Amino acid sequence: MKYDVIIIGAGPGGIFSAYELVKNAPRLKVAVFEAGTVLNKRRCPIDGDKVKTCINCPNCSIMSGFGGAGAFSDGKYNITNDFGGTLHEYIGKEKAIELMKYVDGINLAYGGEGTKLYSTANTELKKICAQNELKLLDASVRHLGTDVNYTVLENLYKFLDERVDFYFQTPVEHIEATNGGFRVTTADREFDCDRCVVSVGRSGSKWMEQVCRELEIPTMSNRVDIGVRVELPATLFSHLTDELYESKIVYRTEKYEDKVRTFCMNPHGIVVTENTNGIVTVNGHSFNDPAKQTDNTNFALLVSKHFTDPFRDSNGYGESIARLSNMLGGGVIVQRFGDLMRGRRSKQKRIDECFVTPTLKAEPGDLGLVLPKRILDGVIEMLYALDKIAPGTANDDTLLYGVEVKFYNMEVEVNANLETKHDGLYIIGDCSGVTHSLSHASASGVFVAREILNKMKA
Ligand SMILES: Cc1cc2nc3c(=O)[nH]c(=O)nc-3n(C[C@H](O)[C@H](O)[C@H](O)COP(=O)(O)OP(=O)(O)OC[C@H]3O[C@@H](n4cnc5c(N)ncnc54)[C@H](O)[C@@H]3O)c2cc1C
Repeated sequence: MKYDVIIIGAGPGGIFSAYELVKNAPRLKVAVFEAGTVLNKRRCPIDGDKVKTCINCPNCSIMSGFGGAGAFSDGKYNITNDFGGTLHEYIGKEKAIELMKYVDGINLAYGGEGTKLYSTANTELKKICAQNELKLLDASVRHLGTDVNYTVLENLYKFLDERVDFYFQTPVEHIEATNGGFRVTTADREFDCDRCVVSVGRSGSKWMEQVCRELEIPTMSNRVDIGVRVELPATLFSHLTDELYESKIVYRTEKYEDKVRTFCMNPHGIVVTENTNGIVTVNGHSFNDPAKQTDNTNFALLVSKHFTDPFRDSNGYGESIARLSNMLGGGVIVQRFGDLMRGRRSKQKRIDECFVTPTLKAEPGDLGLVLPKRILDGVIEMLYALDKIAPGTANDDTLLYGVEVKFYNMEVEVNANLETKHDGLYIIGDCSGVTHSLSHASASGVFVAREILNKMKA
């Protein structure tokens, strides 16, 4: 079987490359290979009743399948160069923003119409943050919400399914450079193409390492972010979330001058577990539908760690800490801030008596036994700093869930066209180490599709 373009991975990166290719060149033969299933078959078996915790499915429905890791996410598309990846370092700041806005337009046209775009431009909150040694990062945020995000994906799938050959539950095993093209091998077949776009995301990180080894593409280690998810009454953060929805705030600790930042803020949201290669960590999302909203807001507080020689395995470090929390708590641990500060573990009775009702059933425990001192000190300092702009943040009953770990793929060496040293082999989205968000991954997909179309015209 021969294609003009083969795309590996049907996450936002893969979806938006396919969309841009077939929209502009309908006669192009494009195939998308995806390890997971079609969207409506993606189901996590955890039902809170018969299956309470992760049973390590061979293919995780949360991370894999049409829509990729973002399918059941909060659908926050941050239009910014300040965070979410370093795409602008490759393609330029203006181009990156232009593409993120283009993606936003497509999301609106495919079901996102009517969702709100929040912005930090002209906000008084920037000054209030600055007065309290906090920095509010610039961004516009389109919040689709988990429900609308799903609808957009359903509609994009309908458009693509008529124009692209999809191969679901078909993980690619090898990519081989052939004479002027590429051969893509699955468990039982081989496919040839002129150009190949790899967008296998975080879940494809191990496989990506193998591809880079086999094709001798240089890589560099990336950082890992470690911390906790904070849950508190939504009213405490309403002055921030009503205006900005998500505020990305950075603090530099007094003790070590480490940077701690807020991440993935979910007003009226829920705290959820996440499984990465069998390691259970914490995350959060929220719904656009008021009927599904809660009285709590949650967000992560993260500290970045980047290792160099002799230890380069930043992800391995993060995994070990997450494993320790899984060992002690059987999964995610929850602790009242007051208990943490008194050096005692939380017990179910104290969680039940808490003024904040947890939205995730986690094991009460002691995060002080899990997180390295330097990271824990950073989180505590940041909670007190946030308390100055949102009084009540450092209350005893504020809930901390751990651990939250953001793993990043190693950085793959690509040029300004996101192309590897093999002409026609592009690495995009989170698996490139260049992006780590929906908007940047999607924009990188549009970018390479246009590059391919331009090269084909030439
Ligand atoms: C719970 C959760 C919530 C999130 N919320 C947000 C948010 O609100 N805003 C935000 O900006 N970001 C969010 N993110 C991050 C965001 O989802 C990712 O940055 C984004 O999905 C990356 O897109 P991608 O296309 O690069 O990779 P992915 O979305 O990871 O897609 C990669 C796809 O490739 C497939 N694949 C892997 N290996 C192979 C193979 N060998 N062969 C074929 N297919 C393969 C996988 O099955 C997967 O479907 C969230 C992530 C999670 C897990």
